Amino acid sequence: MKEKTYLYNTLTRQVELFEPNTEGKVTMYTCGPTVYHFAHIGNLRSYIMEDVLEKYLRFAGYDVKRVMNITDVGHLSSDGDTGEDKMLAGAKREHKSVMDIAKFYTDAFFEDCRKLSIKRPDVVEPATNCIDEFIHMIEVLMEKGYAYEAGDNVYFDTSKLDDYYVLSAQKEEELQVGVREDVEEDTNKRNKTDFVLWFTKSKFENQELKWDSPWGVGYPGWHIECSSISIKHLGEYLDLHCGGVDNIFPHHTNEIAQSEAFLGHKWCKYWFHINHLNTTGGKMSKSKGEFLTVSLLEEKGYDPMVYRLFCLQSHYRKPLEFSYEALDNAAAAYEKLIKRLRAVPEDGEVDKEKLDEYNSRFAQAVGNDMNTSMGLTVLFDLLKEDCSGATKREAVKSMDSVLSLQLARAWEQDDQTSGAGVSGADAELTAYVEQKIAERAAAKKEKDFARADAIRDELKEKGVLIRDTREGVQWEMV
Ligand code: AMP
Ligand code: ZN
Repeated sequence: MKEKTYLYNTLTRQVELFEPNTEGKVTMYTCGPTVYHFAHIGNLRSYIMEDVLEKYLRFAGYDVKRVMNITDVGHLSSDGDTGEDKMLAGAKREHKSVMDIAKFYTDAFFEDCRKLSIKRPDVVEPATNCIDEFIHMIEVLMEKGYAYEAGDNVYFDTSKLDDYYVLSAQKEEELQVGVREDVEEDTNKRNKTDFVLWFTKSKFENQELKWDSPWGVGYPGWHIECSSISIKHLGEYLDLHCGGVDNIFPHHTNEIAQSEAFLGHKWCKYWFHINHLNTTGGKMSKSKGEFLTVSLLEEKGYDPMVYRLFCLQSHYRKPLEFSYEALDNAAAAYEKLIKRLRAVPEDGEVDKEKLDEYNSRFAQAVGNDMNTSMGLTVLFDLLKEDCSGATKREAVKSMDSVLSLQLARAWEQDDQTSGAGVSGADAELTAYVEQKIAERAAAKKEKDFARADAIRDELKEKGVLIRDTREGVQWEMV
């Protein structure tokens, strides 16, 4: 692909030409989920946009290796290294062990990813797999004079760096510890921005996961895992690092500090950050306890592809406000798109020149700092184009290798789109179920989700399971 890729780089605060360290190859690191709860659709906005970025880079001809960690230890409830380990809090909440919680929510995360057509990264590494590597990194930081022991913990000394704030452009006075409600002061720290590399004498009761270390039995701080796992799998020079904007400070700032101190040179070239999904109540967050999940959207009758489209319609650097009204608009747009695709005949030959032209227009649009909504415009332009159905179908498949909206499904045969002939159901039951399905659709249209859910439950009690698909509601007897 001849088209160049431009990306906004948080490090330089401008849109830049993307040029990886090795021509044609990209090393990409993604901060993975903290697996103490389900991922909310805000988290998943970040993973959808990172997925589009990875797929776009492959589309543009790069050979991409992508690594993601799973945070299953050391992420405390406060960014100031105080509070409780989130994993331990999750385990307590559900009366299970930390490892059970980690397994359950890691599986749930990848199930959500599957539903949203998010590709699994090439390497997925839980933090608890790499404790020896973390200890090695901390030992080197101690030897080099970047780390110190205090109050039985090991800290990174941020005063040893010339430019600790390289990424975040935070003003020191904005970081007054204790100003934010959830940040208590840790008096062991020499500088307020110092951060924990290793907790040795845990002051948190019943810390379940602990390992031996040169500083005693303990567990790692949160930030060390991403530096260590990235260097382990992607080497000393990283091309691209991603995460949500809340990761910029302190997480990514601290990752840069410890990685560059450890390596003795610059580490990551491009930093890609996705802005938040908000509700009218503000940023969606797991710790608030109430949040929206993919399963919840499905229960309300939304296809996960509708949420993916909703995300792709807006730019990743802008905050995105979630509402059911906005999601309904995305659902209508998705339905319209599928209908228009269905109308594309399977005729004629593929016009290679036209195909290249559209692939190139699409690459230019998305390659301009991931302008996915412009990419969707190119897709709609294609559908209006005067060319063979075969050319259109080929170009749609090509664009969908990046968008991943499961567009080819529009042309797949689906003969189970109604309940007619469902095994185990007689004519009377079929008529009853179809009546209820119509009532439920009306309730949803009125946004009476409680009524819609009640109808679903009523059917379930009668042994009828209904599923919302883009072909309409399907049902079966269980
Ligand atoms: P966590 O599981 O909390 O470690 O977060 C996983 C990813 O989701 C990180 O990249 C966060 O920056 C990102 N994230 C957290 N909240 C939101 C949100 N409301 N909108 C978009 N991304 C988010
Ligand atoms: Zn990270």
